[in-house]
Amino acid sequence: MRISGKDLSVKLKAEMAASMPSIEEKYGRVPHLAVILVGEDPGSVSYVTGKAKACEAVGIKNTTIRRDASISEEELLGLVRELNADPLVDGILVQLPLPKHIDENKVIETIALEKDVDGFHPLNVAALWQKRPCTVACTPKGIMKLLAQAGVEVKGKKAVVVGRSNIVGLPVAKLLLDANATVTIAHSRTENLAAVTREADILVVAVGRPHTVTADMVKPGAVVIDVGVNRDPESGKLCGDCDTDAVEAVASAITPVPGGVGPMTITCLMENTIELFLRSR
Ligand code: NDP
Repeated sequence: MRISGKDLSVKLKAEMAASMPSIEEKYGRVPHLAVILVGEDPGSVSYVTGKAKACEAVGIKNTTIRRDASISEEELLGLVRELNADPLVDGILVQLPLPKHIDENKVIETIALEKDVDGFHPLNVAALWQKRPCTVACTPKGIMKLLAQAGVEVKGKKAVVVGRSNIVGLPVAKLLLDANATVTIAHSRTENLAAVTREADILVVAVGRPHTVTADMVKPGAVVIDVGVNRDPESGKLCGDCDTDAVEAVASAITPVPGGVGPMTITCLMENTIELFLRSR
């Protein structure tokens, strides 16, 4: 079975769109997401365009602010502070990565906690790890929704997350733990990765390298979530971190790339924007 993030995101976006007229009627305006894009990195431009399209589909107001890659750190921080102070902006997203001369951590820390739509602010991260109310990062949140939609029981299962980044690996491991899975986090220094991944009932792969997970690394019947977004070196096509066709023959379910985790990340961004708007009312 392929777990379609595309189908689920269409459904969830339609539900959000249906709720928008009553939100507007009750509060006098719709939620507003401000996105800052620095430079012209093609990947970033494409992500920001996708986010703007999703806002349009849902009925969320979107402002994309584009700045040249030469912008100074101080100028960028100033822009973030302006948006923090704007009562008509509910969510602020600074598209990463930023040019090398800008300290990403400083920028993330400058976003007001109540407008941190990506859930990357250290206080949001701390709240997640302490099981307190917080804004959950979009990709991990989307992964949990995909598992729920596919009817995957997480409780008591052995979950292996390959990758330990702040934006995917670590938070998804915490969400799986909170859902009562027994969680192992693997990474580039893990010895005998295949033996570790073969233990997984639920395998989440967030590495950023094609062919990282092959069929022989997957336990028969496992559920595989492929987070990777890569270009296949041979075909030039978009691909994930897993050998999807071969893994599908062993696994009970897998997310495709494209059309799996990616659309859910954007959909959860919409959900987070609405949540921040409602929380601040
Ligand atoms: P990072 O580069 O920040 O992290 C990659 C992780 O993979 C690291 O923890 C690294 O280990 C680990 N790793 C690298 N090589 C291996 C290996 N050979 N074996 C085991 N582990 C390895 O990436 P991100 O977490 O930001 O992203 C991962 C992938 O997910 C990328 O392809 C990215 O484009 C995609 N992505 C997709 C999203 C979506 O919405 N679909 C959203 C965000 C990301 P170590 O810590 O030891 O270096």
